[in-house]
Amino acid sequence: MIVAAGELIGNMNPLIAKIVILAASAAMMGIRAPHGRRSRTTATARSFRTPREAGLLALAWIGFIAPLFWVFSSAFSFADYPLRMAPLAAGIVLLTAGLWLFYRSHADLGTSWSVTLEVREHHRLVTEGVYRRIRHPMYSALFLYSAGQALAVPNWVAGPSYLVSFGILFALRIRAEERMMLETFGGEYVAYMARTKRVVPGVW
Ligand code: SAH
Repeated sequence: MIVAAGELIGNMNPLIAKIVILAASAAMMGIRAPHGRRSRTTATARSFRTPREAGLLALAWIGFIAPLFWVFSSAFSFADYPLRMAPLAAGIVLLTAGLWLFYRSHADLGTSWSVTLEVREHHRLVTEGVYRRIRHPMYSALFLYSAGQALAVPNWVAGPSYLVSFGILFALRIRAEERMMLETFGGEYVAYMARTKRVVPGVW
């Protein structure tokens, strides 16, 4: 009776959101997996993996897997709210856009990619493909993805967990990353900065 009343005012079965999040998380890990494997065997010239960086990466990882705890356990059930069609649909659009850009940025960055701040031996500065107009398309992808997750997961904790934890990682990493790129590539990166934005083409 209660379920039927909920459906009458437009609430949906949260199982739909659970399937969406499972599929999106699997796609995310599937896109990353081959790059993670290759990355471990790519020689590093300079590493900037400070304890702070390691802590931020752990935080982002917790934020990423929290929705999976929501899917498989009742740990966050105290923070559940009803699932509605419009935020779910908007969430799916953002998740799909994020996954596409995540795939493309990995493909374009190739061996220059690293999960943390590192300069590879023979590091190549990538300025083409999805790197042509913005310097951090992979971070744009993660913002799209995590915002999509916040909309699609009807839970006040597991929904925004990745958006918040990735937002903190981004805020505390971005300057250090650009400083590292400037030290490594000098004028080439200065010129690249002059013709690009950080995460939103033409805006910022
Ligand atoms: N900030 C980028 C890359 C994230 S991966 C993005 O959001 O798309 C982080 C690693 O990428 C850093 O260790 C750095 O060495 C490398 N990197 C960042 N920008 C790069 C670029 N334009 N070309 C080559 N490597 C880059």
